[in-house]
Formats: sequence, C-alpha cells, structure tokens
Amino acid sequence: MNFKRILLKLSGEALMGERSYGIDPERINEYAEEIKQIYNQKTEIAIVIGGGNIFRGVSGSSQGIDRVQADYMGMLATVINGLALQSALENVGVPTRLQTALKIEAVAEPYIKRKAVRHLEKNRVVIFSAGTGNPFFTTDSAAVLRAVEINADVILKGTRVDGIYNDDPEKNKEAVKFDSLSFEDVLKKGLKIMDTTAFTLSQENKLPIIVFDMNTKGNLTRVVRGENIGTKVDL
Ligand code: UDP
Repeated sequence: MNFKRILLKLSGEALMGERSYGIDPERINEYAEEIKQIYNQKTEIAIVIGGGNIFRGVSGSSQGIDRVQADYMGMLATVINGLALQSALENVGVPTRLQTALKIEAVAEPYIKRKAVRHLEKNRVVIFSAGTGNPFFTTDSAAVLRAVEINADVILKGTRVDGIYNDDPEKNKEAVKFDSLSFEDVLKKGLKIMDTTAFTLSQENKLPIIVFDMNTKGNLTRVVRGENIGTKVDL
C-alpha cells in the first residue's frame, strides 16, 4: 500500500445518495464496505465526516438563526453522521471509535489526539466529528487540522466527481480534468477544492490532497494503492 495512515474526508452530502436530505442507508453501507477493503489491507484510517446533508450553518443563518448557533447545529449534524457511519462500519466488522470535538460523552469520546493515534495503532478506524469544535470553520478545515495532528500521509477527499477540472464538469461537458497540480497551480488557476482556510493549512504543512470519486466501487482501494486516479495536489 502506498499510504500507511490516511485521513478520509467524506462530505455530509455524499451520505445522501439519491436523496435530497439525510442519510441513505444503502450508500453508507457501500462506503463501509469500501473502507473495510483498505482496513483489511492494514491501512490506518481516520475519517472526518461533514454535516451538509442535515444542516449547514451558513444556510441556517440566512434564515435568521444566529450564525454561531447555526454553526453549532451544523457541528451536531456531523455527530449524527458520525454515529451512523460508526454503526455501518461495525456492522461489517470494522472496529471503530467516534471522537467529538464538542464533548458529548454519553455518546462518544472527546477528541484526544494521543488517544486517536493509539486507536489507529491498534487498528481501529477513528471517526472525528463535530468539526473543529469552533464556529466559522468547515469540516474541510477539520479534516486538514486532524490530518496534520495525527501525521496522516495524505488527505483523501471523496466526492461525486472524479477529480479537479478546469470548470464544473457537471455543467460544462468540455471541462478538462487535471491528473496532478501543485498548491501554487491551484491558487494561480483559481480552482476551488476546499475553502481557503483548509487549503492554506494543507499547503503550509505540505500535506498532499487527493480528490477522487468515492462512488465508484474499488476507487478508495485504488487510491490507497497509489494508482493514478483522481487529482493529486502536492508541492
Ligand atoms: N461547522 C462548524 N465548524 C467546524 C465544522 C463544521 O461550525 O469546524 C458547521 C458549519 O455550520 C457547517 C456544518 O457544521 O456548515 C456542516 O459542516 P460542512 O458544511 O463542512 O459539511 P460538508 O460540506 O462536508 O457536508
């Protein structure tokens, strides 16, 4: 395997499958199966899960909810997704721990870096939820932050598209995909992969990001094996 320790970022929207809201049980079970494949090959796996399928702070605040309150609602949404993913993983026999950046101790462990690393060393998948625990951040920022903290080799951003294009491939049929890009290229070309805070943190810490299509069976394994799919952003 090409990577020993990975941080997989899954957006909340990815869990919706064909639905327009919430969690599609079939999709989450498929993801659990995909994760199991790399788990079986001894990859150490940390996951940061988003919450956009349930609640997003920005849209809440546009409807009159105080922004900070709305962001806490968004963070709690990621805990719901984390619990669902934990359950799906355990159903396929993958031992998992859920850690939260906001304390909800009856439900999950609080985030403790050393504990998280210990779980990884003991071959448990660790799911980080509640983002960074702070309003005005995103789960992409949480993904980079946790990846840097636990010394992950790479951030794997699983999406619905198969990489980074020069235009939105869902709208422009002529859009061209990049196989690899430098952090500088991404900035120069004005490409949007993650929000600026997350992207800068990754660049400053020289942490590569691979954007790939998580919805194609076997892709996660291929990426971890080092096959050239998706788009890699590196120095
Ligand atoms: N959020 C936050 N701080 C964080 C991470 C998330 O306030 O560190 C809130 C924010 O309101 C965000 C919501 O949680 O809209 C859900 O996360 P995100 O939108 O990143 O989820 P995704 O787009 O990955 O589904």
